[in-house]
Amino acid sequence: MTDILSFFLETYESSRERFRNYLSTVQAKWSGAKPFQHKLQGDEDLTIDWIYSDATETNQKVFILTTGEHGVEGYVGSAMMQRFIEVHMPKLDPRNTGILLVHAINPWGMKHHRRGNRDNIDLNRTFLYNVHHDPAFNPEYDKIARFLNPGTKVTNLLLDNIGYTLQLFWHIALMGMNNFRYALLLGQYRHPKGLYYGGTERPEETQVIMDLYRQMMSSYEQILHLDMHTGYGPRYQMSLVNSALDKGSSDYFVKRFNYPLVVAATADEFYAIRGDMVDYEYALWQNEFPEKRFFATAFEFGTLGDTMYGLFQSPRVMIHENRAYWHGAKTKSLLARAKRGFEELFNPSASDWKEKAVKDADQAFEGILRAEGYIS
Ligand SMILES: [Zn+2]
Repeated sequence: MTDILSFFLETYESSRERFRNYLSTVQAKWSGAKPFQHKLQGDEDLTIDWIYSDATETNQKVFILTTGEHGVEGYVGSAMMQRFIEVHMPKLDPRNTGILLVHAINPWGMKHHRRGNRDNIDLNRTFLYNVHHDPAFNPEYDKIARFLNPGTKVTNLLLDNIGYTLQLFWHIALMGMNNFRYALLLGQYRHPKGLYYGGTERPEETQVIMDLYRQMMSSYEQILHLDMHTGYGPRYQMSLVNSALDKGSSDYFVKRFNYPLVVAATADEFYAIRGDMVDYEYALWQNEFPEKRFFATAFEFGTLGDTMYGLFQSPRVMIHENRAYWHGAKTKSLLARAKRGFEELFNPSASDWKEKAVKDADQAFEGILRAEGYIS
């Protein structure tokens, strides 16, 4: 049996090297497959890497797999890429199917184990179709901005946790749970050191990826895209998170993909987002390529769980990490704890978690590829 645990690597560099080494495996099926890199601005050796090939006979359909839009989530994404290459890619038909594999959409975040890029930008709030990075968007975020980034050093975990809990209840009492979550997660373009910040203009990572999607939509009759994420939903059951712009109901997709948990990225079923990457593709498709067949979804590997505990812990862990990043911590051990908690939220260490995650991914890859006509 393959050693599943060895799929999960610990550094950006080792993951990137493994990815670059996939080229010969991809070329064994698609002789024309080529490696591509976009080097990010700045001195660090950070690249968005992808491998692409046309179909060997006719460009009828394309399969796209992307990872690491939220940097730190790229470690689980990279493991799923490894699994896809080993188990699922061999079943595709290169004669009519092109392939696009993307390693680390957000290489800075992956290398530094953060969600955002170097500018603290959550790339999944930057895929805006026909709208701008509007600083006035989501004014409700202002009410919780101070709570989310207190602007001071982490000094005492116990007191910080008590403070966090009291403030959380205070804000929920004032705003209501739904409005609180809505304001928190929707995205904001005004607080550069805050959470879910979308920046003031389109980041270079986003532009690179947008160009790739446009190229795929114009080259193929059918486009299927699966994007890897972690952090939300039940701990031991990966959720397929469909775009709010997809018309099919979650129940419909559960049957269609033979996969037990499908949700739509709406305020009711998941949470609402502005600038979501898959939403961008839906807008691109509906506005410019409506004659094509298109489906995209995200694999969300839950970590802390969707119980009350998980719902309250996730923002706490993110607030601590963000605060420690910007303002530091009084001791090294406080800093380490803030980082470790964050890592567990997006890149869990438990073996049983990793094994179940790969199992769920297998079921979803299989069900989706079959339903969309990529394997028979
Ligand atoms: Zn994510």
